[in-house]
Amino acid sequence: MKYYFLIVVMTTTISFYGQSNTQLYEIIDAVSAQSIEKDIQTLADFGTRNTFSDTISETRGIGAARRWIKQEFETISKNCNNCLDVFYQKDFVTKEGNDRVPHDAWVVNVVAVQRGTKYPNRYVIMSGDIDSRASNTMDFTIDAPGANDNASGMAGTMEAARVLTNYKFESSIVYVGLSGEEQGLFGGAGLANYAKENNWDIIGVLNNDMIGNIKGVDGVIDNRTFRIFSEPVPPTETERQRKMRRFFGGEVDGISRQLARYIHKTTRTYMPEMNPMMVYRLDRFGRGGHHRPFNDLGYAGVRIMEAHENYNQQHQDIREENGIKYGDVIEHVNFDYAKKLTAVNAINLASLASAPPAPDKVAIGGIVQPSAKFKWDKVDGATGYKIYWRDTTSPTWDHSKYVGNVSEYTLDGIVIDNYFFGIASVGENGYESVVAFPNAVFRD
Ligand SMILES: [Zn+2]
Repeated sequence: MKYYFLIVVMTTTISFYGQSNTQLYEIIDAVSAQSIEKDIQTLADFGTRNTFSDTISETRGIGAARRWIKQEFETISKNCNNCLDVFYQKDFVTKEGNDRVPHDAWVVNVVAVQRGTKYPNRYVIMSGDIDSRASNTMDFTIDAPGANDNASGMAGTMEAARVLTNYKFESSIVYVGLSGEEQGLFGGAGLANYAKENNWDIIGVLNNDMIGNIKGVDGVIDNRTFRIFSEPVPPTETERQRKMRRFFGGEVDGISRQLARYIHKTTRTYMPEMNPMMVYRLDRFGRGGHHRPFNDLGYAGVRIMEAHENYNQQHQDIREENGIKYGDVIEHVNFDYAKKLTAVNAINLASLASAPPAPDKVAIGGIVQPSAKFKWDKVDGATGYKIYWRDTTSPTWDHSKYVGNVSEYTLDGIVIDNYFFGIASVGENGYESVVAFPNAVFRD
C-alpha cells in the first residue's frame, strides 16, 4: 500500500512540473516578431519621442506616443476580460536645477497591472522606455525615431502583455512604458517612488533597454547572446550589513544579483539556444538605465539588453558622414532577436509570478563543524524548499537539493567555509522563487 501511495504522489508531482514546462514553452512560441515589428514601426513613426517634445499632436511627439501605448494596453485588456488596470503615473520635472531639462514638463509613464490571484500586492515588473533622443538630448524637435533605443524594449513589453494576459498568475505583473530616461531616469524614479508610497512588494524589475541590435559596432554579429546587468549589493544596505559581509560573505549575492541568476537559469533551461551573459555591474561602464532608480530604493532590478551595441545607431541624428550611416532607424532592428529577448522576459515574469515568495529570514550555521546547517521561516504558499550552493568562485548556483517542507536542514559533509549557500521556496506547481542568501548566522 505504501508503495502504491508513493507512486500516486510522484505522478502528481510530475504532472505539475509537466504543466509548468508546457506553459513556459507555449509562452515562448506565442511571442510574435511580426507584432514587435509593427509596434516598433508605429513608435518610430511618431518622429521623435523626446520627453520634452510635442504633446498635442496626434501624429508626432511623446504625447501621441503615450496615448497610443495606453490605447494598446486597453485593447489588450479588453481581450482578457479587463484583466489589466491601465493608468498614467506622472511627475512634474522642472528646468530649474536640471541641466538636461529644456523646459518644465510632465514625465508620464504608462502602467498596466495584471493583478495576481493569490498575492495581489507582490509585483514583478517589465519595463521599456517610451522616450527617445537625438545627438543633442536637449533637441526635442529633430527626428529621433529611437527604433532600438528604446522602441524595442517598449514593443517587447507590450508583446509580453499580449501573451501573458492569456494566463492567470499568483502574483501581479506590471508592464510599463517609462519616460524621461534619456535626461535623468525621471520616469523610473517616479514609478519607484509610487511603488514605495503604495507599499508594493516588488519581486524584481526586468528593465529592457535596447533589445533589438545584433550587429555590433565592433563587427560582431550575434543573435543569441544577451546581457543581464545587476549590481552586487543594494546601495541601501546598512553599515552593519556592510561590516558583516566581511566575515560572512555576500559581496556578489545581493537581491539584484539573485534575480540575474534566476533569469540566467530560466533561460538556460527553457531557451537553451540562447546565451545569457551575466555582467557583474549595475549597468554599462559609467552609463545608466531605468532599473537604477528601483535599485536606489532597495528593490531588486536588472537591465536586460543586447550583447553588441552599435554606437553609430544610438543617440545620433540621422545622417551620413564619411560613408557611415548614423541614426537609430528601424532598418537596424532585428525583430527575431527582439522576439527572443521578449520571450526571455515573458518566461521569467510567468515563472516569478507563479512562484511563492522567497523565504524572508534564512539563517546559516555550521562554523567549525563538518556540515552546513540552515534554519528559515516558512513561507505561506510554499510546499517545499530547495537549498542551493556553489563554489565561491562560481557565478551560478551549481548544486541544489530539494529538502521538502521543512524549516531547517543539515547538509551532511558540506563544509560551510567552502561554498556559498542560498534557499529558494518551491510552490505546489513546481515554480521556484529567487534564491535567498542567508541574512543571519546561528551557532550551536
Ligand atoms: Zn538611450
